[in-house]
Amino acid sequence: MARNTGPVCRLCRREGEKLFLKGARCEGQKCALVRKNYIPGAHGGKRSFKKLSEYAKQLREKQKAKRIFGIAEKQFHIYYERAEKMDDITGDALLKLLEERLDNVLYRAGFAESRAMARQLASHGLVKLNGRKVTVPSITLKVGDKFEVVEKSKSAKMFEPLKKKKDTSPKWLEVDLPNLKAEVTKLPGKDDIDSSIESQLIVEFYSK
Ligand code: SF4
Repeated sequence: MARNTGPVCRLCRREGEKLFLKGARCEGQKCALVRKNYIPGAHGGKRSFKKLSEYAKQLREKQKAKRIFGIAEKQFHIYYERAEKMDDITGDALLKLLEERLDNVLYRAGFAESRAMARQLASHGLVKLNGRKVTVPSITLKVGDKFEVVEKSKSAKMFEPLKKKKDTSPKWLEVDLPNLKAEVTKLPGKDDIDSSIESQLIVEFYSK
């Protein structure tokens, strides 16, 4: 399955939970899931979220993780294969690898309202990594990597509300939000990975 380019709220409705794909617009009553909490499609309302087989639960968890991080199936599977070879619990290693992607790190640092916006920042060349402009959102960051929005874009209107926000970045990042600069000071640990994703179900899905 390719990366989704359609209406993102349908993805949350399909998973039956908020995946926060639209940043601040996900808060409050405007969220589509608040208004239409059933599976999208002609017969969506008749299908239940509860009656899932083990396989369906594993599949849905994998789909949910892919959707949260905005990753296509092929690339997601490559991450899984990398995680399998690592010296860590495979599910934890998988989520840590996803956390370390440049687009996710930009989002975690608060430079973007959503991972989709973060991906655009990176792919449109608005970000410098260790002093060099980059255009690849999937780059894996490592300890000591410094990143920032390129100087000429720092005054762009879209960053104004973000620069004034409270810094809610994780402790593995050191963030200078007003100047849109940050550094990876350590790698995300088990406590830093997304607790809403049951990574063990994803491992079971791929282990069949
Ligand atoms: Fe999901 Fe956000 Fe749309 Fe709500 S508003 S359904 S959380 S993307």
